[in-house]
Amino acid sequence: MNSTVLTGCTVADARVLDGVAPLRDAAVWVRGDRIAAVGPADEILALAGSDHPRVDLGGAFLTPGLVNMHTHLSLSLPGEGGDAVKNLGPHDLAHYMADGARRTLLCGVTTVRCVAEKDHADFALRRAITAGRVTGPRVFTAGRALVSTGGHGHEGTDTLECDGADGFRRGVRAQVKAGADLIKVMISGGIAGEHEDIHTRQLFTDELAAVIETAHAWGRKVTAHAGPAPVIAEAVDLGLDCVEHGYQLTPEVVAAMAARGTALVPTLLVTRCKAFFDELGVPEWMQRRSLGAGPRHLESYTMALAAGVEVLLGSDMPPFWHFEGTNATVRELEHMSDAGLGPARALHAGTLGPIRWLEAEPDLGTVEPGKYADLIAMDADPLESTSAFRGVRWVMSGGRIVRDDRNGGTLS
Ligand SMILES: [Zn+2]
Repeated sequence: MNSTVLTGCTVADARVLDGVAPLRDAAVWVRGDRIAAVGPADEILALAGSDHPRVDLGGAFLTPGLVNMHTHLSLSLPGEGGDAVKNLGPHDLAHYMADGARRTLLCGVTTVRCVAEKDHADFALRRAITAGRVTGPRVFTAGRALVSTGGHGHEGTDTLECDGADGFRRGVRAQVKAGADLIKVMISGGIAGEHEDIHTRQLFTDELAAVIETAHAWGRKVTAHAGPAPVIAEAVDLGLDCVEHGYQLTPEVVAAMAARGTALVPTLLVTRCKAFFDELGVPEWMQRRSLGAGPRHLESYTMALAAGVEVLLGSDMPPFWHFEGTNATVRELEHMSDAGLGPARALHAGTLGPIRWLEAEPDLGTVEPGKYADLIAMDADPLESTSAFRGVRWVMSGGRIVRDDRNGGTLS
């Protein structure tokens, strides 16, 4: 069994919110793919003995890897860039997604939640990563997102058109059959749909209830692409587990979300990423709609924070995309932090919060014995500033070092 002792680090994780202070002069003993022990360096070195290789992290801050809860590795927006992805054949698409998965992991995103991927290629990708044939993050996925005929995102093979309660039940079951960990449903219009508005309602009550009831019966949570408050209020009441975007929240709906424990993945980048849209050749009508929704979107987010809604990191843009001097995942977390969350809660929103939503806390989310060694290191203190994640220079996934900028760069 591989065994490594990591030294020269300060261990920090989201338990800081529960009063667990960062551990300075720490060491972490990794055996196989999991953490065997964490503690003061002298204690851990004595415990591990001298037969194991040591990796000196040079005074870095060591945290759990980031979790991106709104990922599309096969994203194709309207415009030339998106068309090029849409026109990939299945073999090319598989390689394209594998490349995205690798880049994502190297950014320090060790887990993703995919919320609409083309052709069930996500399941093949997950199998390849699990088998070690592809380097990538742990994948939790919804398979294809469910959408009404002509509804948000219907143009691509990353959605499945359903109509009527029976149709939506079948849609849920088809994703579960393929291996989905959760269900994604588009309950209102969005920025990327030419024939709809952000506030267009797209599912009737019986359809929405059918999705949630069927998913829950199979032990799967449901997240919804959703903008307007009345549509979200109804879904929350029916037991929705998570809201994506939430462009137009109100005090009433955020209060209901907080009371019911419905999470929000705000994806603030979606309404503040002109350079990304330009790079992909996204048409003018969509850019106008996106950027125009920005101020109200941010207001919704701060309203949710004030009400005590659980907010979680998710970029919508490909997690690894180079953007404003960093990657999309870190840029999104900076926006969340700067708009009122602050660095400590941002660390929670990017690690333990998502892992709890995914019900993976026994395996992931903190730097504790027994958990998978999915760890990242950076020189600045992420509890001082979320921008510390810009400096991620070392990444370990399941006990394997996949990036080490100081010692030979990327190792896989
Ligand atoms: Zn999305």
